[in-house]
Amino acid sequence: ETLMNQSMHEVIDQLHQDDKTHVWHHLTPGAAAEAGLPMFVEGEGLVIRDSQGKEYLDASAGGVWVTNVGYGRKEIADAMHAQLTKLNFFASSMAGVPATKFAKRLLEKMPGLSRVYYSNSGSEANEKAFKMVRQISAKHHGGKKSKILYRERDYHGTTIAALSATGQTQRRAQYGPFVPGFVEFPHCHEYQSQYELSEDKSYGVRAAQAMEEVILKEGPDTVGAVILEPITAGGGVILPPEGYWQEIQRTCKKYEILLIMDEVVCGIGRTGNWFGYQHFDIQPDIVTMAKGVASGYAAISCTVTTEAVFDLLQEEAGDELGYFRDISTYGGCQAGPAAALANLEIIEREGLIDNCRIQGERLLAGLEKLKAKYPIIGDVRGKGLFVGIELVTDPVNKAPVADAITVGIAARCKALGLLIGRTNRSFTAANNILNMSPALIATDADIDKILSILDKAFELETTNE
Ligand code: PLP
Repeated sequence: ETLMNQSMHEVIDQLHQDDKTHVWHHLTPGAAAEAGLPMFVEGEGLVIRDSQGKEYLDASAGGVWVTNVGYGRKEIADAMHAQLTKLNFFASSMAGVPATKFAKRLLEKMPGLSRVYYSNSGSEANEKAFKMVRQISAKHHGGKKSKILYRERDYHGTTIAALSATGQTQRRAQYGPFVPGFVEFPHCHEYQSQYELSEDKSYGVRAAQAMEEVILKEGPDTVGAVILEPITAGGGVILPPEGYWQEIQRTCKKYEILLIMDEVVCGIGRTGNWFGYQHFDIQPDIVTMAKGVASGYAAISCTVTTEAVFDLLQEEAGDELGYFRDISTYGGCQAGPAAALANLEIIEREGLIDNCRIQGERLLAGLEKLKAKYPIIGDVRGKGLFVGIELVTDPVNKAPVADAITVGIAARCKALGLLIGRTNRSFTAANNILNMSPALIATDADIDKILSILDKAFELETTNE
């Protein structure tokens, strides 16, 4: 037994050594990788275990808001296995059984939308939306209405066009030149109130008018679409203020601008509704989604559109090129929609949307208590199991705490067996927001454990122990 343990340790040590030598990690500076990264080897539900046998309660859904139904779902793996052994692949230019079934089930959750376009990542799903806008511009507006607006602090992906539509200066730094025709407008972070409110307007309406100002400046006939996150995720869990979305929708209608909702994080239950936009009584023209679509069991994303958008991109007599001429090879991998379908069925059967709403309220109520206890907690906010904590030097001036404090609290949580997310100065100007997004299966006990570890981490950090 000792010999076996010894050889297992050797295998693991060798893997860690090989990782350091061969793998170039996402978002990771060389020095951090050189110091050694945890290697997660197995998970079940909300719990994940590393190569040293240490267990963590994962309140980050796989680090980046992905594992909505939790780890170790044999049912999803089985559905993929059954599909892959039957038929693994055929290009999405042909009909496929799981792709058809999933599209129908998904659209039942999205009244007003009727077409599902498959690809493999959130960035790609957004790229498809941008290509649709550009082609509509070329076909129907003689090249006008080609510009796409995006908002400060929102993130839309890693590819050059998705990054061109991203409002995070640090993330873009050194990756230009960017794609022309993307225009930024200011954010709507009420806690940090960037608007003077002398006027008789709600904060939300005023913040949304920032978009209209940019439209008027650019010229309404040049703007074809706007892309927005329903709740800004990586930019700091920023919720839209009261009245914001109604004003955005009104403005889009007024200037005939397509509303693209990036539901890559918020979609498929994360906020206690199937989709984030459904909290706000608005009707988008295009919705993109990825992450939670298959909870990380498969790489699949969708760009969902109205019938009107679909109709605008069909071939016509004299314009054979007038249909949407786009493909992502692995949009034809049959395992993706098979996983997505099993994922959706789990969410329905286990009532995870309701659970997410209920547990989200429990989490937020607990965070309010921590806020009353620790003055560095300036704001707690969230919807469903998607919450943020903004850390400030004092609650009145709301200046961000030093990076070391945000990093320190996240590190203390990790040492205590809890994984949470946080902003990072490499992407956003301030690094003072923690975030949490446990899987939608979280129980009372899970939420209470998250809160008690957070409490301990704040206590240690603020007493500097
Ligand atoms: N959109 C949003 C809101 C995201 O948070 C992300 C990734 O974090 C993306 C798009 C890009 O998704 P992907 O990394 O799958 O390309």
